[in-house]
Amino acid sequence: MSFPKAASVVVIGGGVMGASVAYHLAKRGQKDIVLLEKEEFFGQGATGRCAGGVRYQFATEVNIHLSLASLPMLERFPQEIGQEVDYRQCGYLFLLTEEKDIAAFERNVALQHKLGVQTEWLDGEEIRKRLPLMKLDDVLAGTFYAKDGLCDPSGVVMGYINAAAKLGVQTRTGIEVIGSVVEGEKIKAVETNKGKITASIVVNAAGPWAGLIGQMAGVEIPITPIRRQMLTTTPLPDLPADFPFVIDFAQSLYFHREGDGLLTGMSNPMEKPGFDQNIDSDWELVNLEAAAQRLPLLEKAGLASHWAGLYEVTPDAHPIFGASAVEGFYVVAGFSGHGFMHGPIAGKLMAEIILDGQSSTVDVSMLDLARFDEGRLIQEYNVI
Ligand SMILES: Cc1cc2nc3c(=O)[nH]c(=O)nc-3n(C[C@H](O)[C@H](O)[C@H](O)COP(=O)(O)OP(=O)(O)OC[C@H]3O[C@@H](n4cnc5c(N)ncnc54)[C@H](O)[C@@H]3O)c2cc1C
Repeated sequence: MSFPKAASVVVIGGGVMGASVAYHLAKRGQKDIVLLEKEEFFGQGATGRCAGGVRYQFATEVNIHLSLASLPMLERFPQEIGQEVDYRQCGYLFLLTEEKDIAAFERNVALQHKLGVQTEWLDGEEIRKRLPLMKLDDVLAGTFYAKDGLCDPSGVVMGYINAAAKLGVQTRTGIEVIGSVVEGEKIKAVETNKGKITASIVVNAAGPWAGLIGQMAGVEIPITPIRRQMLTTTPLPDLPADFPFVIDFAQSLYFHREGDGLLTGMSNPMEKPGFDQNIDSDWELVNLEAAAQRLPLLEKAGLASHWAGLYEVTPDAHPIFGASAVEGFYVVAGFSGHGFMHGPIAGKLMAEIILDGQSSTVDVSMLDLARFDEGRLIQEYNVI
């Protein structure tokens, strides 16, 4: 395949965001799109390392609206995109052990109800009844929404990549963007390890690396890469088939079924920003001990696999959508640890922003890049 020297649109990054943007632009009729991924395969960045969780339970209107638009797209994915993505609605159950979280979650649930998300409020007794295998004496209350669940990240990425390719998008791996050409505050081209590609529209969908791509165009994008890791266990036959995605909110500790075993992860609050994706084995022990205290069954399990990936964290834990000070240079990144689930709608919204000048399916105008300079930050409480 020859190297594309020019394109109308270059999308940088072949994770869920780049794949979804490329597909939705092409579906809207945009021609001459090139999607560039530096790795040898698509979806090897944050998307391929994520927990696959999808949920409606958020604390801000815009995040709930994004879920209300995005999760039904995952439900329809096999029909619309022609790819199975194994969407399992096992529910998310948040466990609350601290008084201060109770009031915040009560507010969240009221907001979710207002927007049509019928999250259940559960008292400690009810939770202990639902999760008899777990040690939950200190749990005060919790929330459960049955339509939250799990979905297959690589299925979603490859579904969009293949559908985009069928619509004429050039989807290319092994091409790394190493610079860009900006003239008179307009984007003109990207430089890659294989040569230059001229383009008047460039979409930065580089996830945890989006800040670096921004620097190449002279655009400051406040996205910090922060390592997160998880592990899966050997089969646990006693684990019920309907075990939900359980989150011990105060400890940032989570569990869900993975095959016949369990996946668990725990966010290290002391993790330093950086691009290291090696496992921190000390933290893995902390995770395992905390997990076994909650679910003693884990003592019977062996380690099946483990890996680390990078969150792409913004100062207000909300994503960045849209234009920048450099004409033609767009950003869709910074989903702060919950971007997989919002990938489908994010691509559609970016197509609207680029082709129509604004998003219409969901109003994400408040999530522009300029909000950081203008002090319009939005806080999300439900970050895990
Ligand atoms: C451990 C972990 C657990 C998570 N759990 C969940 C979850 O349960 N639910 C959820 O919704 N989200 C979760 N997330 C977050 C989610 O993975 C991300 O928000 C989402 O995948 C971001 O997608 P992306 O396409 O922006 O980034 P990525 O998937 O990282 O894609 C960016 C791509 O850009 C490429 N790239 C970078 N630089 C260049 C360059 N110079 N040239 C060319 N290509 C380049 C990278 O190789 C990469 O493939 C989790 C993340 C981690 C790390």
